[in-house]
Amino acid sequence: MAYTDGGNNIVLAGKVGENNIVHEVAHAVYKRKIMIPRDDTKYKLLDIFHASQKTGRGFVSTYAKTDVDEFFAECYAAFAQDSVAFTKLNSPMAKLLKGLWK
Ligand SMILES: [Zn+2]
Repeated sequence: MAYTDGGNNIVLAGKVGENNIVHEVAHAVYKRKIMIPRDDTKYKLLDIFHASQKTGRGFVSTYAKTDVDEFFAECYAAFAQDSVAFTKLNSPMAKLLKGLWK
């Protein structure tokens, strides 16, 4: 199990896969690089999330449909694992993620 606690600590317990760790790191990236004042990345992310909700496409997992935070974390982990496959699945999100790596 892997999760981020209230104090922004990533907690790893028991058997944890690499993807779980990247997913939790993504939550930290979300807080530090998305949810920042005077930056429109969060609105771009919301637009992409809402477009996926509308079409039912561009989700890497069922869990990614939970909310925009989980959507971001699941996309981030999928992009880190295979950016080419992810770009085919959700190119607007791939573009947003590439922008964060600058
Ligand atoms: Zn999560």
